[in-house]
Amino acid sequence: MHEPAHSRVRATIVGSLPKPAWLAAPGELTASWHLDGAVLEEGKEDAVRIWVAQQEQAGLDVLTDGEQRRQHYIWGFYQGLDGIDTINLAMRAQRAQRYHKEIAAARLVGEPTWRGPIFVDALRATRAMARTPIKVTLPGPMTIVDSIVDTIGGRTEAQLAMRFAELLNLEARALADAGAAVIQFDEPCFNVYVDKVKDWGMAALECAAQGVKATKAVHICYGYGTADVKRWKSANRDWSHYESTLPLLAKSSIDQVSIETAASGVDVGVIDLLRGKDVLLGVVDVGNEIVETPELIAQRLHAALRYTDPGHLYACTDCGMLPLSRKAAEGKLRALVGGAALVNAMH
Ligand code: ZN
Repeated sequence: MHEPAHSRVRATIVGSLPKPAWLAAPGELTASWHLDGAVLEEGKEDAVRIWVAQQEQAGLDVLTDGEQRRQHYIWGFYQGLDGIDTINLAMRAQRAQRYHKEIAAARLVGEPTWRGPIFVDALRATRAMARTPIKVTLPGPMTIVDSIVDTIGGRTEAQLAMRFAELLNLEARALADAGAAVIQFDEPCFNVYVDKVKDWGMAALECAAQGVKATKAVHICYGYGTADVKRWKSANRDWSHYESTLPLLAKSSIDQVSIETAASGVDVGVIDLLRGKDVLLGVVDVGNEIVETPELIAQRLHAALRYTDPGHLYACTDCGMLPLSRKAAEGKLRALVGGAALVNAMH
C-alpha cells in the first residue's frame, strides 16, 4: 500500500548503519561477530536498540534496524535459506569486475528453498522498540545471482534469478503481513548490467514484489563507500545507467526508487524519469566521515524539487552507512533531517 500523499520532504536512510565495536569489527563489510551464542543475540538486539533510538531522536520518518543483526546485506537472506553455503566460499567475478577482479562468494549447493520467515521475528522485535514506520531491506534477485557461485547448474542466470525472486516474494509477503511499512530490494547490479535489467532483471524484481502489501522500494547505487569503490567512482565517466533503468521502474509496480547522487556524477535531473514515484534521493555521501551541513542537504533537495514534488521526495543516504564511524553516521542522520526541515521551511 502506498502511503497517502504528503506535502513535505521526508527523511530516511538506505539501510545499514555501523556496528558498535563490541559487536563486530568496525568498517568491515562482512566482519565476524565479537560475541557468541545467546550473548551474541542479546548484543544484536542492544545494537538495534541504540540505532532505533538514534534514528528516532534525529527524527527520521522511516527507520531500519541498521542491519545490526546481519553479517552482510545479502548473506542475512542466504543464511535463512536451505541450499546455500556461506561458510565454504568460492571466488568469482562480481559486478562485471568493476571494483575487483574476483571476490569470495557464497556457494549454491542445493535447491534454494525458503524454510519459513527469515526476518519476521527480528521485525517484530524492532517494532516493539520503535514508534516510527519500519523499512526492511532484502537483496534483489539480480544482485543475488551475481553474488553466488552456482555449483548445481542447469539454469540460466535469468532462471536462477526468477527462482530467488519467488523465495524473496514469500519473505516480503510475510514481512508485510508482520507490519513492515516498506520492503526494499537492494539492486546495485541494476547500475552494472543495464541490458540484463531490461531482459529479465525487471521481471524478477516484479516477481519478488508481487502482491506485497507494503510500500515497495528498490535501492540502486554505485556501491558502498569503500576504498575500492571510491577508486572506481573517481575514474568513472559514464553515469548514464539510471537513464536506461528509471523509465522501466516508472512503468513498474515499485513505489519508491533510491538513487545515488551525492558521491556519483549523476545529474539530479534524471529523477524527472520517475514522475509519480517516490524518490529516495541520495544526498549524503557514505564514503567519507565529513558530515554534510543541513544547508548542503537542503540545497541538494531544492535542486531535486525542479523534477518532483515535496510529497514524493525523501532525503536519503547514497547507500548503507555500514563502513562509517558511529559518530559520522549519527551526524549524517541529523543532517538528513535538518536538511529536509530547511527545505520544507522554504516551500
Ligand atoms: Zn547501495
